Amino acid sequence: MFQVSDELLQELTEKRRYLHEHPELGFEEVHTTEMLKSWLAEKGIPVLPFALKTGVVAEIKGNQEGPTIALRADIDALPIKEETEVSFQSKKEGCMHACGHDFHTVSILGAAILLHEQKEQLKGNVRIIFQPAEEIAQGAKHLVENGVLEGVQAIFGMHNKPDLPVGTIGVKSEGLMASVDKFDITFHGVGGHAGIPHNAIDPIVMASQYVTAVQSIVSRRMDLFHNAVVSITSIHGGNTWNVIPDKVVLQGTVRTFQEEAREVIPGLMKQMAESTAQGYGGTAQFHWDAYMPVVYNDAAFEKIIRTTAEEIGYMAVDAEPSAAGEDFAFYQKFTPGFFVWMGVDGPREWHHPKFDLKEEAIKVAAEFFAALALNVLEQQQ
Ligand SMILES: [Zn+2]
Ligand SMILES: [Zn+2]
Repeated sequence: MFQVSDELLQELTEKRRYLHEHPELGFEEVHTTEMLKSWLAEKGIPVLPFALKTGVVAEIKGNQEGPTIALRADIDALPIKEETEVSFQSKKEGCMHACGHDFHTVSILGAAILLHEQKEQLKGNVRIIFQPAEEIAQGAKHLVENGVLEGVQAIFGMHNKPDLPVGTIGVKSEGLMASVDKFDITFHGVGGHAGIPHNAIDPIVMASQYVTAVQSIVSRRMDLFHNAVVSITSIHGGNTWNVIPDKVVLQGTVRTFQEEAREVIPGLMKQMAESTAQGYGGTAQFHWDAYMPVVYNDAAFEKIIRTTAEEIGYMAVDAEPSAAGEDFAFYQKFTPGFFVWMGVDGPREWHHPKFDLKEEAIKVAAEFFAALALNVLEQQQ
């Protein structure tokens, strides 16, 4: 079985601290990429020749024939000024690993090292994906477009979870993290004198009606077993007290845990915008910006995830879903996969300037993903 020795944990911890001191934003992870390539080379793990902006893809070829599966870590940081008291604070002003991607990176590197050491046991191959630009929801898409998932039969990943203790792994089939989409709507009318409204077509009235009526899409048009949040977060129109403006612009976001719900909502919102505008003699333009799908875990892997955690002495717990998004969802559009929470017992939530985590979790995560890869390849025979 796979064991992260004290020496390896020390080494991975030092590497995590190094990355923490040198954070880089999405698609700017040039130094992180160089470091990862040199660390992989030191261990004799081959890198695949994908033409990526930043990020690295390596592959461990098992001594036995079999399918290829993937483990994914994200490597980018955030534009946040660090406020922790750790000795390895960010050396880059206004940039911080405040989402713990430094932890993901070294944990998956650790899993790769363990798998490489025991590759004679592997019944297939494990592709190791160090993905850039998760925080801007561009990295996974970029890698998929470059063919990184070609030949991959299943993909696994994690996010650290500050509210779970070290040694626990949060597991949930189906929707784990919400889709994140954006929209804007422009209601067009005819501007005019506020005292002579019958000569104008008032877009403020259209927009006002829409803001309240749009909530009925969730309560009246969607399946009882689906759920969603529709939030209108910006409304702009008019610039004085005695003039009816000619347009009003709304913006907002929709979150849901079911792709089926995500598919129907924009059509219903568009229809309601157009018919509301039409009812007042105006028109509406609806624009939907599909940003990030649902992190949707394939239930077929739940059992092997839970038994792997327990087999190596850790605890699988039921995961609470999160309304935050994760671009791991893009891989799951093409390849079945499973995303878990890794307990890190941190003091603060993701993206907080005082975000921190317990580094012992590196051992748990590296051992878990190595064992999971071995077990999945064994089962896929
Ligand atoms: Zn984040
Ligand atoms: Zn993150």
